[in-house]
Amino acid sequence: MQKVKIKEIFTSIQGEGPYVGYNQLFIRFCECNLKCQYCDTDFNGEMIFTPQTLKEYTENKLTTVHSISLTGGEPLLFVDFLNEYLPFANKPIYLETNATLPKELEKIIDRVDIISADIKLPSASGMPSLFEVHDRFFETAKKHAKEIFAKIVFNEKITHDEIVQCTDLGKKHDIELILQPQTVSDKPYVSAKKSQEILNCFLQKYPHTRLIPQVHKFLGVE
Ligand code: SF4
Repeated sequence: MQKVKIKEIFTSIQGEGPYVGYNQLFIRFCECNLKCQYCDTDFNGEMIFTPQTLKEYTENKLTTVHSISLTGGEPLLFVDFLNEYLPFANKPIYLETNATLPKELEKIIDRVDIISADIKLPSASGMPSLFEVHDRFFETAKKHAKEIFAKIVFNEKITHDEIVQCTDLGKKHDIELILQPQTVSDKPYVSAKKSQEILNCFLQKYPHTRLIPQVHKFLGVE
C-alpha cells in the first residue's frame, strides 16, 4: 500500500478565494513540482500515512467541516494515494492545485468537487510562463463539468501581457478569476490603490473577476 509524507492536518477556515470562511479539514502534502519565489510552504514531512491510516486519522475530524481541502505542496503528485483515500472521505473534496498537471487531474477528477486552480504569473512566481499548461488543465476540468475558479497571486510588477493572457484564459474557459495580492511575511506587498487599479484593468477585459486578499492572514489564523 502506498505511503505518503504529510506535513500537517488541521481544521481551520478557508482563507482564500470564493469559499473564504468555510470551515475545512486541510491535508497538506509535502512535495511540489514548482518553485515559486513567494512560496512559504515548509516541505519537511512530519507524518507518514497509508490511505487506510489517513482514513482512521481523519474520520472523526469531519463532523463540523464543510469540505476537505487537499493542499500543499501539490496534491496531484499523489493521485494513486488519493484514489485509494478519497472513497473513504464523506465530505466534498476541495482541491488546491498549481494547475500544471492535467494528466494527473484526469486520473482523479471524478473524486473531486471543487478546484481552486492557480494561474502563475512569471512576474510574481519567478517561474517561466505556464499559461499553456494552465490552458490544458482548465480544458480537462471543464470537460468533466467541474466547479473551478482561478486564483492569481500578483504584485505591482504584473505586466499588460500577463493581464491579457489571464483574461483570455478566463474567457476561453468561462472561469472566474480571483486576484489575490501577494503578501510577504504575512503583510500586504501590494498597496490598496495598486490592487484596485489592477482589478480595474482586469474588469475592463473580463468582468468575471474579483479581488480577494488572504483573509486568514488578517485574522491571524492558520
Ligand atoms: S505551487 Fe504552491 S506549493 Fe508549489 S512552490 Fe508554488 S507556491 Fe509553493
